[in-house]
Amino acid sequence: MIKDENLRRKLLNSFPKISDTELKSISKEHMPQYVIYKQFKPGKYECYCTKCGKWYINDTSGRNYTYISGHGKKGICLECGSDVTYLAKGRGRKRVYNKENFAVFKLKGDNVYLQTYQIRTFFTDAGKGDFNFKTMDTLYKIDTTPYHRYVFTPDGAQKWEHWGHYSAKEEHYVECWEARKSEGEPCFGDSIYANDNSYVCIGEECIFNSCLKYSLSAAKETMSWPTVLCYIVKFLCECCKHPNIEYLLKTGFGFIIEDKLEYRHMYGLRINWKQNDVKKMLKLSKKEMAELSCTDSETLSHYYHLRKLDPAMDIVQRVKYARQIRDIDTLEVIIKKTDLSLKKALHYQEKQRMLLIDWKDYIDQCVKLDYDIKDESISRPKDFYTAHERLTKILEAMANQEKQRLFEANNRLREDMQYVDEELGLMIVLPKSIDDIVREGKLQNHCVGGYADRHAEGKLHILFLRKISEPETPYYTMEVNTKGAIVQCRGYANNWETRGGKPKTEDVIEFEKRYKEYLKKVFKHTKSKAA
Ligand SMILES: [Zn+2]
Repeated sequence: MIKDENLRRKLLNSFPKISDTELKSISKEHMPQYVIYKQFKPGKYECYCTKCGKWYINDTSGRNYTYISGHGKKGICLECGSDVTYLAKGRGRKRVYNKENFAVFKLKGDNVYLQTYQIRTFFTDAGKGDFNFKTMDTLYKIDTTPYHRYVFTPDGAQKWEHWGHYSAKEEHYVECWEARKSEGEPCFGDSIYANDNSYVCIGEECIFNSCLKYSLSAAKETMSWPTVLCYIVKFLCECCKHPNIEYLLKTGFGFIIEDKLEYRHMYGLRINWKQNDVKKMLKLSKKEMAELSCTDSETLSHYYHLRKLDPAMDIVQRVKYARQIRDIDTLEVIIKKTDLSLKKALHYQEKQRMLLIDWKDYIDQCVKLDYDIKDESISRPKDFYTAHERLTKILEAMANQEKQRLFEANNRLREDMQYVDEELGLMIVLPKSIDDIVREGKLQNHCVGGYADRHAEGKLHILFLRKISEPETPYYTMEVNTKGAIVQCRGYANNWETRGGKPKTEDVIEFEKRYKEYLKKVFKHTKSKAA
């Protein structure tokens, strides 16, 4: 933004005029054009071309004619030879609506003036009656709306937005240009939800003769120009703000600008724009600049990071690692935890060919097991993957032991849930381990195995209903919640006959009733059972 309000007003008043004729010719050059035709005798067509605005007869028996392949097909105008789309008169007029945004560049002195417009072309409704071909140009309308104004000067860039509304007080349409604090790409949407950022540049070559010519020439030589054109407004703003962009481009650091233009990840890169010397702008030595020229933002960012971690490392080697390493934050965590030197860590990773994230995982395992990770024989095992696997197994076994300990502790609280009914010949047995529950699920062909963990943690109770005569043979499996209510009681294959199960017997139903009453007494004094 240009801070001086007077200068801003002066600049706004100095915009070169763009006439309606100029906008009309832009639309004819860049927007779809049509030939409207009507057959009035066999082989004879009355035609009107929206591009040249001429009316003519296309006579297929004459010497000069074109074959009209049909409505909506491509062809050429007999008068001006332009590529057009044929439209049968009176058909599909609603679809003949086109909209395009334009950015018109003009040079005045050293400054670049940019004015944007949205141009719409369409047919006005001519009613149902027949209309004269010769007045067709009054039916084919071009409508233009100004949207933005930008000026790019040696003092900076400034953007204005067009703003208009009908004033009831003044009884006419009021328009104004509103100065914006920040510049950025133009947006042609009707609302913030319907953003339209595309536009066609007109006359942009003039920028090469402006105050920005040095930066722009450098950009044209070193960057992909079509990419720059996509973000030309943003780029011009950046050039106004930072005239020394030119030096970055010329020394092979244009990738930073390109990433910025394309709104890519910048990896926290910072440039000291106040400096005119590229070495100072990038805080790099001559040798570093030579090695890092034409790399990418991520490599450059990693380079700075590695330089901070080990200022003594050889430049060429550091650039090599900066290109290679993609997960530098993980590397930093590993170094901090192990006290390994950067060199040793990088060398080890290169030798073992493992992912840094796996190494960090391994180190976390060592911490859990209370191993001394400052000891290099532990932090850098000879065979990384074997060591990692071994620790995974140890930790798994420990977790299982812990679970079993919890299981047993909770089972002690469940002792009074055991129950024997001599009359029905049935009883309730407690599972003794996680494996017991898993085995029950397998033999009974149901899913109780999935409940084992929650049983161990005391979040629910899994109980085995067995015949007194066969205490070791799975019969029914029961789930009781922490309040002492029976949630489910299932036999082989969930009692589904289609899968080999049998309907619940009267005995089991009766047993459930009696056990329910028994549980009421057990849970009367304890709100829940969990260790
Ligand atoms: Zn024509």
